[in-house]
Amino acid sequence: MLNIVLFGPPGAGKGTQSAKLIEKYGLVHLSTGDIFRANIKESTEMGNLAKSYMDQGKLVPDEVTIGMVESEVAKTPEAKGYIFDGFPRNKFQAESLDEFLEILGCSVTLMLALEVEEDELRARLLLRGKDSGRADDVNPVIIQKRIDVYNNETAPVKDYYSAQGKYIGINGVGSIDGIFGELCGAIDRNG
Ligand code: ADP
Repeated sequence: MLNIVLFGPPGAGKGTQSAKLIEKYGLVHLSTGDIFRANIKESTEMGNLAKSYMDQGKLVPDEVTIGMVESEVAKTPEAKGYIFDGFPRNKFQAESLDEFLEILGCSVTLMLALEVEEDELRARLLLRGKDSGRADDVNPVIIQKRIDVYNNETAPVKDYYSAQGKYIGINGVGSIDGIFGELCGAIDRNG
């Protein structure tokens, strides 16, 4: 199985690149943000709970997020592999993912981390907020909160995969196709 953790701060381009990677490699896209937003749209109990955190730029509680990822994986037993997009977002989630994949007899193959400067992130998120309909992309205070949460809670996940020799940093500034080429090169050399 080819299991990729596509990592990076909010606005790094994870969603855009995930869409291209799943097509090329035949993987299942598992975006925790997208699943939460689908649940918010359907007004499920989980969606309502997730919304109260997302609107403030905070992480949704681990037990909710991890349970959701596990049930999504269980829905696709034939998958050739996954692109985990927006997950894991802290060390506890990373450990839980390792334990869960071990039970399934597989593991994370690689973490590909898109690297983008904060000024560029703020500009991209504000631009996306103009037409994405995402409440968390409109308010600069919430955008900053998400970047802060990334720096404090999520960035350390790099060290977790680095210690396993699985971390690869990719420059997330450039053309979409150029960055895609870099990601594919890293997968083809290490996957
Ligand atoms: P972005 O990376 O642009 O912030 P996402 O769609 O990945 O967008 O996430 C949007 C929001 O969903 C996050 O700010 C957070 O509130 C919630 N979320 C997504 N993934 C997770 C996760 N793994 N753990 C906790 N909360 C999450």
